[in-house]
Amino acid sequence: MDCKRYLVVGAGFSGAVIARKLAEQGCKVVVVDKRNHIAGNCHTERENKTNVMVHKYGPHIFNTNNKRVWDYVNTFGSFMSYKNKVIADTEKGVFSMPMNLLTINQFFYTKLTPNTVEAYLKTKQLKIQNPQNFEEQALAFLGEDLYYNFFYGYTKKQWGCEPKELPSSILKRLPIRFNYDDNYYNSKYQGIPEKGYTGIISNILDHENIEVRLDTEYSSTENSNYEHVFYTGAIDAYHNYKYGRLGYRTVFFKEEIHNGDYQGNAVINYCDQDVEHTRVHEHKHFAPWEKHDKTIVITEYSKETTKEDEPYYPKRLEQDIKMFEDYKLYTNGLKENVSFVGRLATYRYLDMDKVIEEAISYVEYFINNKKTNRPF
Ligand code: FAD
Ligand code: UDP
Repeated sequence: MDCKRYLVVGAGFSGAVIARKLAEQGCKVVVVDKRNHIAGNCHTERENKTNVMVHKYGPHIFNTNNKRVWDYVNTFGSFMSYKNKVIADTEKGVFSMPMNLLTINQFFYTKLTPNTVEAYLKTKQLKIQNPQNFEEQALAFLGEDLYYNFFYGYTKKQWGCEPKELPSSILKRLPIRFNYDDNYYNSKYQGIPEKGYTGIISNILDHENIEVRLDTEYSSTENSNYEHVFYTGAIDAYHNYKYGRLGYRTVFFKEEIHNGDYQGNAVINYCDQDVEHTRVHEHKHFAPWEKHDKTIVITEYSKETTKEDEPYYPKRLEQDIKMFEDYKLYTNGLKENVSFVGRLATYRYLDMDKVIEEAISYVEYFINNKKTNRPF
């Protein structure tokens, strides 16, 4: 590849993976990020008073079925095995999440088995042909009792709208099991980096051809100084909100320090809509291989994104999808030397493994064909 200078906007997983691949080709890469740290929303750092590794933008558990992605991240740091088990605090008591046979048996005071649970749930399910949204999907599969106790309140708080306005794909993220397996994920490879996600991303960016500039806001006036720009920020922000703001939920946190073990688990979800917060995380439980006398406890609240907030969860309501299509059309018409990659630029709810997989395949195609391979 005839190597020139490239600009990567954003030092999260998407930007870091792209920068590294280009740098390994011998190209000079400048990575800018407006924040004062690398790693984007996966950023981790040790909290001063407790020395606990905190996932600053909310709990992150790496999980994937993609061996190539798993091997890739493991080249840049060691992962400790970690199985995420969540507790759901509800109006009717405290249960195991994701929903499994223990949850169902304790909730209904039954002794169902893998062979009898489905027939039992059928007696609860609402008859809805072709469920069209989150609520219909949940009612058709679980019935009213489980839906209202575990999903309605949490989802309404998390997304700030009625669950029937949301796509059913959000519910499908969560496994529902007819055995006693309480692992939050089904993925073959699961873990948490021993030295935090920022440690991994720092190693990805650690290459003589990569220059990282933090506290640096991107301006499109710079495009002409580079052969190509890989933009991993928000697409609506790139176009100065020409068609309006895409819908995002953001979260904010309240921190407390305690002695010992505060809640006995890394994450407790609060499913009752009258409880203001969505979940409480106690970060030392994400690193059970470390010992800490003190503990940092973080309560998470969800709210609508304003101009000042970091966009977290793309809402993807009907009007958002339409606006996103307008941004895509406009972007394609511009024919700039810019590619849009990652969760914000493509306005999708993407896990870490998926953004890494997409960044690798995108930049490989770019390197091999010297052009972009999709409308963006
Ligand atoms: P980001 O990490 O958002 O990086 C984009 C970067 O671009 C940011 O650092 C931003 O500052 C920078 N930027 C934006 N605009 C500009 C600009 N104009 N100029 C300069 N810099 C700019 N995934 C999992 O696999 N497992 C989990 O358990 C998990 N938990 C999550 C929990 C929460 C609360 C959230 C919100 C997400 C979670 N994710 C999880 C998803 C994960 O955070 C994303 O997949 C990942 O962060 C996406 O990486 P990215 O590089 O595309 O975007
Ligand atoms: N959810 C819920 N109750 C819970 C956990 C999840 O209603 O106790 C719903 C909620 O709408 C959430 C979705 O299921 O957004 C997917 O859950 P997941 O844990 O994947 O959410 P995320 O990791 O995105 O926060």
